[in-house]
Amino acid sequence: MRPLDDVFAALAGSKFRRSFRLGERDREYLRSRSLGVVAEHAHDFVGRRLAPASPPNDGRQTPYRGHPVFVAQHATATCCRGCLEKWHGIPRGRELTAEERAHVVAALTRWLSAQFDAEPRPVTNAPNAPNAPNAPNAPEHASGATSRP
Ligand SMILES: [Zn+2]
Repeated sequence: MRPLDDVFAALAGSKFRRSFRLGERDREYLRSRSLGVVAEHAHDFVGRRLAPASPPNDGRQTPYRGHPVFVAQHATATCCRGCLEKWHGIPRGRELTAEERAHVVAALTRWLSAQFDAEPRPVTNAPNAPNAPNAPNAPEHASGATSRP
């Protein structure tokens, strides 16, 4: 299992992983709950969708929207066992240990809190409206390309 600092350094070099951002709805969701509550949700998702030795639909079990944790999973390469193996050094084909689950949840909460800290300031002087199609930070799949890996 790779240390989280190494994983995050590698993630920062991936254009695809870096493209994930929380939408306004997800931000609102996070604002209305504590990070601890969201971490509980993360534990639950990880336990059901990722931890089994052979998760159902592995590789496409994580939606691209609907919960901030889903977005965080794609951003941190904890979306499926293939990505966990490739990026986090956690082999597939066996159930995740408690330590590995905790590692995944730590990755998710670390990314979510960084997003929170990076929350954009009011855009009164910005040249583009926040949701303009050509806004510099608009993720390339903002319209919901659910078929991407
Ligand atoms: Zn994946």
